[in-house]
Formats: sequence, structure tokens, C-alpha cells
Amino acid sequence: MRRRELLKGAVLAGALAALPRGVTQGAPQNRPVLGRRYRNLIVFVYDGFSWEDYAIAQAYSRRRLGRTLHLEKLLARYPNGQINTHSLTSYVTESSAAGNAFSCGVKTVNGGLAIHADGTPLKPIFAAAKEVGKAVGLVTTTTVTHATPASFVVSNPDRNAEARIAEQYLEFGAEVYLGGGNRFFQARSRPDGKDLYEAFSQKGYGVVRSAEELARSNASRIIGIFSESHLPYEIDRRFQGVGVPSLKEMVQAALPRLAAYRQGFVLQVEAGRIDHANHINDPGATLWDVLAADETLELLTTFVDQHPDTLLLVVSDHATGPGVLYGAGRSYLESSIGLDLLAAQRASLEWMRRVLGERPEADQVREAYRALKGVALEEAEVQMVIEALTRKVYRPDAVRYGIQPDNTLSWAMVQRNPSRPDRPNIGFGSGQHTASPVMLLLYGQGLRGLSLGLLDNTQVFGLMGEALGLRYQNPTMSEEEALELLKARPQGVLHPSEVWA
Ligand SMILES: [Zn+2]
Repeated sequence: MRRRELLKGAVLAGALAALPRGVTQGAPQNRPVLGRRYRNLIVFVYDGFSWEDYAIAQAYSRRRLGRTLHLEKLLARYPNGQINTHSLTSYVTESSAAGNAFSCGVKTVNGGLAIHADGTPLKPIFAAAKEVGKAVGLVTTTTVTHATPASFVVSNPDRNAEARIAEQYLEFGAEVYLGGGNRFFQARSRPDGKDLYEAFSQKGYGVVRSAEELARSNASRIIGIFSESHLPYEIDRRFQGVGVPSLKEMVQAALPRLAAYRQGFVLQVEAGRIDHANHINDPGATLWDVLAADETLELLTTFVDQHPDTLLLVVSDHATGPGVLYGAGRSYLESSIGLDLLAAQRASLEWMRRVLGERPEADQVREAYRALKGVALEEAEVQMVIEALTRKVYRPDAVRYGIQPDNTLSWAMVQRNPSRPDRPNIGFGSGQHTASPVMLLLYGQGLRGLSLGLLDNTQVFGLMGEALGLRYQNPTMSEEEALELLKARPQGVLHPSEVWA
């Protein structure tokens, strides 16, 4: 607290006059009220999901798969709105500050989990739910220790300290942990050499490492880690036959376990790689991760229908990219062709980069784009890919495209024919997060007549708290205070990597 007192003095002395204009002031406050409680809460986070991603998946689903997105049906019939996403000190948030806004109800600086920039820890709502006897589950397609799921259960100044976060999970003791991130659990790759699988096992967890083991396990408390780092993109799982469970299969395993607890449960499900696919500007990878999320959403709504004392809250934390389907041709008549061409995509750029290696031949590049992306590259584009992989020469030449060499691999196949698309006509303005508002949707009984409108992301906390009958306030920090702390300590308490996911 002493630092805060000092800071207040600094404000009075006008020491902060040169700081940027505030981001948090002046937001309209609309406070929706659920008007009832629920025994169970499921939070489904679409990470890095924008309305442009929605539009592309919705159009593709109808045109190519002959069905309406489940998400679209829910948006048409259930309370939904938008959330502003800015963090305490930036209009553009990253996932941990966004996760903190949901789970703790206060704005924080980008980069830390349930913590303020001066190290004041915050209590995440799943920790509060655990205290009143609820079972807890985390299911994600990223490393299970990644920012979004972690922000719901533990406090840590650095979202990238995933080896430590894995240990914090052991101490926290949720009933279900499912996702990726083997390197943070196995003794061989942990900096302290601890075997966390053994430690979880000693605490009574079933430890599973494959889809088959997950299907076979009858452990009531379970940890399932299915890949070294993040789980593969859905496009690679589906078309390249990577043997990991889908998001839906992981949720299928989580639900009956959690539903067995008499006091109810809280579950966070994250479609975490929509964000990553948008970071690398990969429209095929984004599309299939959104479609996989939609299948999971359908499963979750079926569960809610059968367990009406459950509230399902579906939310995006921020937009990334985003990939935008642009109009093409006279009267935009050719636009849909640019969408149909996505059907030829059979792998992510991440997969393709692994296929190509660091020194690919021109023929290899041509063949990989043809077979995996359905795109016939021109000679200059083939050279662009080779230069990016062998000499680290990246395109397009702009700071917004910081996720390399992937953004160059995407740029090489960008649509160049303005009148008739011969490639997916989806353009990315960046490889970064953006400031736009994103979706919030509620599904459950007794919500009729509820209007959400435009909210702040911190109000998600209020909705979850009301649903569970948990009311508490985490300490707040002012933007000025946070900026002063960051300025005084450039490395700071928070030292996240340069590029966030
Ligand atoms: Zn995110």
C-alpha cells in the first residue's frame, strides 16, 4: 500500500502529465441482472474471435456443409451483446488481462494472471467457487497452463511462467485439467526436473496422455495432456490425422465427471487456437477451429438442456487479425468463390512450415501450397516463401505483421486477382490483436427478456458471480498508478514476451 500512497503524491505533483490519455474513463455502464442463481456455470471462451471469423464460418457452414452454425441459432434466440475489451493500460488487450477482467472483475495491466502490476494478487472466481465446494474444470486446445484458463484459477505475475503455473494447478486441485503442454509437466523438460505427472497421480488424479487413454479412464479427477505444446489445429487433426482428442471429446470427458459433484461445478472451456490461427493469418486453420468450437457448443447446450440448473456463458476475449472476407467482382458477385476455395485447404500454415523445413526447394514449396492450401503459387511468391524460410526476409514490410515467418507464408498466397478470386479471398490487416468489441452470449433457463447490450468485459465477472451467488470485490488499480509502476520498472513485475497470443 505504501507505494500507492507515494503514487498518489506523484499524481498531485503533476508527475504524470506526460502520460497518454486514459483508456478507462467514460465507458457507459449498463448493468444487466440475471435475476436467478444456477448450480453449475460453464464459461466457453472463443479466444481471438471476431465477428469477421463468425461471418466466414457462418457462410462456409451454410454454403459448403449445408447447415447453420449452432452459434448463429443461439445468437438469434438468446441474450447476447458486445463487450469492450481494453485492458487497464491499453486499448488492445491480450488474453491474460482479458481473462482477469472476466475472472476477477477488474482491469489489469497486460501480461499477468489475477494480479495487479504492484504484485497485489486478485481472487479469481473459480477459486471462490472452489471455496464454496464447487468442482472445477479447465479444458482447452492450448497448453492447459495458458493465459485464459490460468487466469480463472491462479495468480502469477507472468503468464509465460507455465512451468510454475503447472505446479500451481497441482496446489489448486481442480477436478479436471485437459489440454496441451507436456513440456511443463514432464520431469525432462521442467527447469526444476520435477515429475508433475507423478505428483498429480499421488494426489489421486488419473493421468492420461492420449485420446484412447482419455476414453478408457474412469478416474473421477483427471489430468489429460495430449501434446508437447498447444494441441494441433483442428484442420490438422481432421485432415492430417493427428491423434489427439478434439475439443468436443475433451468436453465430453469433463462433463460427466464434473456433474457428479453434489455442490455443482464451474468449467471453463476454451477454443484457444482461433487466436493463434489469426495471429499467423491462416484462414483455413481459423475456419476449422471455429467449426470445432461450434460442435462443442452444440454439445454444451445439450448438456444445459438436460441440466437446467446450468448457465452457459459464451464469450470472446478480443479479436485477432482479423481475417476478413472481402467483396470481389462486379456487384460483388464473385465474393462467394473466394469463400468456396477454403474447401481446398487441408492443413495449417504451421503444419506446412514443418513439411517445408528450413531449406525447401522451389518444387517443394509449389507442391505444398497446391496440396495443403489449394493454391497455385506464382514464381515470385515461391521465392517469397523460400526467402522467408532461408534468409528471414519477411513480407509484407509492416510492423503489424510480427508473427514470422508465418505471416509471410500467408502473404504469399494472398488474393491478387481483383475481379475473379482464384484463392480464398480473405485478407488480414495484421498478425496482432485488435481493439474491437467482441461477442457475449448467455444460454440457460430463465433468461427470457434479459438484454445485455454493450458491456465492459469486467461485467462478465458480475454475471458469473450472480449466477453462482458469489459476491466479492477485488481491489482496483487506477490506470495512472499502473502506468507509473510500469514506467518506474520497465522490466517490471510483468515481463511477458514481445508477442502475445
Ligand atoms: Zn486471447
